Amino acid sequence: MTRRLLAHRHLQRLHQALVQAGFEVIGPQVKDDAILFAPLNSIDQLPWGWQEQADAGAYRLQHDAGSRRAFAWNTGPQGLKPWLFKPQQTLWRADNTDQGLHFRAVEPQPRRLAVIGLRGCDLAALAIQDRHFLEGPYADPFYRAQRQQLLIVAVNCGRSASTCFCVSTGDGPEARSGFDLLLDELDNGYLLQIGSERGAAIAAQLPLQHASGAQVSEAKAWLAGARQQQRVMPSEAELVQLVERLDHPRWQQVAERCLACGNCTSVCPTCFCSKQESESDIRGRQAEQVQRWDSCFSEQHSYITGKVVRADIRHRYRQWLVHKLATWQQQFGRSGCVGCGRCIAWCPVAIDLVEEAQALLADKPLADKSQEDEHG
Ligand code: SF4
Ligand code: SF4
Repeated sequence: MTRRLLAHRHLQRLHQALVQAGFEVIGPQVKDDAILFAPLNSIDQLPWGWQEQADAGAYRLQHDAGSRRAFAWNTGPQGLKPWLFKPQQTLWRADNTDQGLHFRAVEPQPRRLAVIGLRGCDLAALAIQDRHFLEGPYADPFYRAQRQQLLIVAVNCGRSASTCFCVSTGDGPEARSGFDLLLDELDNGYLLQIGSERGAAIAAQLPLQHASGAQVSEAKAWLAGARQQQRVMPSEAELVQLVERLDHPRWQQVAERCLACGNCTSVCPTCFCSKQESESDIRGRQAEQVQRWDSCFSEQHSYITGKVVRADIRHRYRQWLVHKLATWQQQFGRSGCVGCGRCIAWCPVAIDLVEEAQALLADKPLADKSQEDEHG
């Protein structure tokens, strides 16, 4: 696909074109010592010169005052998930009137959002969330309404954090689909690729130049460097074998460290578990049904007909890992992991799912082991 060059000094023109097209622009910014997506009034708010140093249980921002890069970082604690699948969503309301209960629907109120700075892993996660929330007989009307109002300006990654493994999952470091516009950040500008008619309409407003062969090569070199910096997750074919490791002693070892805090599921861009709660005012005149993010690490998440099915953390961690990496493949045709590494960086006790998957798969199947034992 033909790519054109947008000079550094014209990046604000992209912002202006999005605003003129009626979008509220959302972009990455440094907030609370992390990269967060928030309303972006000017490209000056982008995280110029910032990148993260991430590791298991660690996330620190570092600033390079000499850098002219706004997208040198890889991930923050959240990508797109909270903008589409909200942490809290009122589903309906009820009034207790003298004439009886009166139920009121809550209509979706989508915002016309243009999100700048999403990565290949974020778009792969979006495709998974689209399948969950939009397909089948129970599509989510709130998700659908916001999804229809979304324009995406994605960015290819020019480096990888030490927690990244999107090459192993096939989801990065380049964004392959799902974007309206795609940028490669170069030393002297941005290579711009168009992914949709809406993207083409925005691009038509920009002072684009011819991109030279050297600039295209520079973009490829950044991507190649990002690929080489990554760690390796076992393949999907190997991960399926986790279902044969349900009695592995490693589950107990990890359970002794895991706090069941749910951080990993909160930051994971593909996790979609939720719960519903009823709330009412103190006089009992008004009530509402609220949907909130939930986690398979919470004890109550497995409460079924009077019993908590997964009372032990060992069972909850196993449920998360085996579902995410193995049985998800039967459900959705692919693993539920896009290799973003967020759950690794934001786990307070540095549990690393790549390390856990490797350890669980490193041993021979337990059946083989027992045969070895039998045969001395
Ligand atoms: S399981 Fe971890 S690495 Fe995989 S998509 Fe979720 S947060 Fe990212
Ligand atoms: S694996 Fe880490 S982030 Fe996830 S629930 Fe356990 S302690 Fe929390």
